[in-house]
Amino acid sequence: MRVLVTGGAGFIGSHLCERLLREGHDVICLDNFFTGSKLNIAHLLDNRNFELIRHDVTQPILLEVDRIYNLACPASPIHYQYNPVKTTKTSVMGAINMLGIAKRVRARILQASTSEVYGDPQVHPQTEAYWGNVNTLGVRSCYDEGKRVAETLMMDYHRQNHVDIRIVRIFNTYGPKMAENDGRVVSNFILQALKGEDITVYGEGEQTRSFCFVSDLVEGLIRMMECPGFIGPVNLGNPTETTIVEFAKKIIALTGSSSRIVYRPLPADDPKQRQPDISLAKQMLGWEPKVHVDEGLKQTIDYFSSRLNTA
Ligand code: NAD
Repeated sequence: MRVLVTGGAGFIGSHLCERLLREGHDVICLDNFFTGSKLNIAHLLDNRNFELIRHDVTQPILLEVDRIYNLACPASPIHYQYNPVKTTKTSVMGAINMLGIAKRVRARILQASTSEVYGDPQVHPQTEAYWGNVNTLGVRSCYDEGKRVAETLMMDYHRQNHVDIRIVRIFNTYGPKMAENDGRVVSNFILQALKGEDITVYGEGEQTRSFCFVSDLVEGLIRMMECPGFIGPVNLGNPTETTIVEFAKKIIALTGSSSRIVYRPLPADDPKQRQPDISLAKQMLGWEPKVHVDEGLKQTIDYFSSRLNTA
């Protein structure tokens, strides 16, 4: 099949491109390199089944494809708050442009949505039936609300134009090729530990997160895309919850670092708890995460230490 991956030069997108090429597909990677990097896909450029298009999803484009994975969107607060208007445009106009292609060429389209559509949830763990608790006015809203509208557009193109859609709500994902400068917990903690710097925990560190390794996530994306007749939304994430402070301690132990933990004030709108209920993914896709956090962290630590050594 010919598969379009928007945001294909990003963290998750580049792993997805690799996997699709291994399965023998023709892959078109579309990216404007806002947060993605040529380094993430440099090793794919010689593959004759791989094509790279530098393009912004907020602009229309015409492509003939069978599948569209719509991942283009900055994903970490530092990046999506850099130009919040553009972030909303990327989600909303990007979804409209990609749905336009899907409608025209009858391609199946998967939207990378997010656990952030649940906002600061009042229900734990979150099932897909939960409508969320999102602040429309906050500094995270450009991302959360942009993604919510993208879901709405997917459903309306499906109901109105019979576009074959899939909606996946991705929870925190980590692994090699995560951006180093994105201020996210995993990359921050690993880099601070590798450099022997203080590890910064926001608030008391009692807020919990659950982290899914990228190869597990990619497996879930592909299963969802190819699952007949099930459009979602479906949660994909790792339900094993860890408090931030426990996580910091684990990284200190795995890197053998001498770093100390220091505490800073909690940013606005920071969710206290976030844990996926993945019963639906288990039932419909036969999917659940397989990679143990120690193994996933080891691979991620190796990646960051090689980046530090070549910097
Ligand atoms: P990432 O920032 O590494 O990847 C996003 C990619 O999209 C980058 O390559 C970037 O250059 C590209 N991009 C951004 N704006 C664009 C535009 N206007 N036109 C074309 N390309 C554009 O982030 P990621 O972690 O790989 O996330 C991929 C997708 O998964 C995003 O849609 C994100 O919202 C979603 N997601 C990720 C996580 C996570 O934990 N990583 C969690 C929930 C949802």
